Amino acid sequence: MLVPVLIRSRELMVHFKRCRKGCQRDKDERQDQGDCGSNDRTSEGRGSRADHGRGACSRNLHLCQPRKVLALASQAELHHATLHGQEVGPLGEKTVLIDTHTHLDDARFDGDRDAVIARAREAGVETFITIGCDLATSRAAVSLADRYPFIYATVGVHPHEVKCIGDDWYDELRRLAQHPKVVAYGEIGLDYHYNHSPPKLQRDRFREQVCLARELRLPLVIHTREAQEDTIKILKEEKGSEVGGVFHCFSGDAWLAKDALNLGFFLSFSGVVTFQNATMLRDIMKTVPMDRLLVETDCPYLTPAPHRGKRNEPAYVKLIAEKIAELKDSTEPMSVQEVECHTSQNACRLFKIPYGSPERGQSKNAR
Ligand SMILES: [Zn+2]
Ligand SMILES: [Zn+2]
Repeated sequence: MLVPVLIRSRELMVHFKRCRKGCQRDKDERQDQGDCGSNDRTSEGRGSRADHGRGACSRNLHLCQPRKVLALASQAELHHATLHGQEVGPLGEKTVLIDTHTHLDDARFDGDRDAVIARAREAGVETFITIGCDLATSRAAVSLADRYPFIYATVGVHPHEVKCIGDDWYDELRRLAQHPKVVAYGEIGLDYHYNHSPPKLQRDRFREQVCLARELRLPLVIHTREAQEDTIKILKEEKGSEVGGVFHCFSGDAWLAKDALNLGFFLSFSGVVTFQNATMLRDIMKTVPMDRLLVETDCPYLTPAPHRGKRNEPAYVKLIAEKIAELKDSTEPMSVQEVECHTSQNACRLFKIPYGSPERGQSKNAR
């Protein structure tokens, strides 16, 4: 598996491309001299356990400008790559996107689910996480994950639905969570905007489910609306940081972003960042470190501009990445490709899923 290293400077990328040819020559010469170049890797290779003979670019990377290029990857990326025995190489032309929050089981996709998925794959979305909101949708999410190699699932009970929790629900959720492609617990949390379940019951069920996620060792997918203080309070009291997770479809205040980041959580941005009136949210997004950002569609809801009013679908996650790049680029140079690369690596780190799609020759062990 190749972990892309971000090459921010165009000059360096040009140099790197040129240098790869140079390196090939360099390598041939070394081989002529009986030196295959592998020593370079051991002396420089803090980030790679690449097998000799696999992944030419990884080797060339080590042979040409190791420090200069590798310095552009964060320590965390390199550490993660080393830990998982991944190769470290330059970022290619094509990166992958991960839609970290979809409701692909929704009835609105019943007529054309395969076409929706194919369109998203065409747009560069290689991995999808589909979310459980109650027992039926948790089961549906797991069965979608069973059917498609690039779909992962979560299980849990949404604050709207906690009033329906029956005696046997938690046992069934525990059983479903044993599936190897269940990568998180949620979406769970508090929603005082609609109060479809009574607030006190929401809080009690939220606490119970944070505990259950800790028992299952699964990260949390948090839904919070007009309930910021209580959400943070419960996460602190129930030690949510032990498993971490994501504030999905982040739309809170600056202090919530800060508190969530302090608790070690990721923040996921949806199509809302493209909405005309979301100025405050865009300002908050700009302050979130790149290693804590995720992207999601929350499809079929929250369709980004310019498709508002239509059904949302995972292909549109690209529009969110583009918007984030545009906004971030106003303070530091940032390409769409970098946003895709960062957010995908973050998702892989949080959900412990492999980078890249299984059927394109990548690792396929989920957890
Ligand atoms: Zn939600
Ligand atoms: Zn959702």
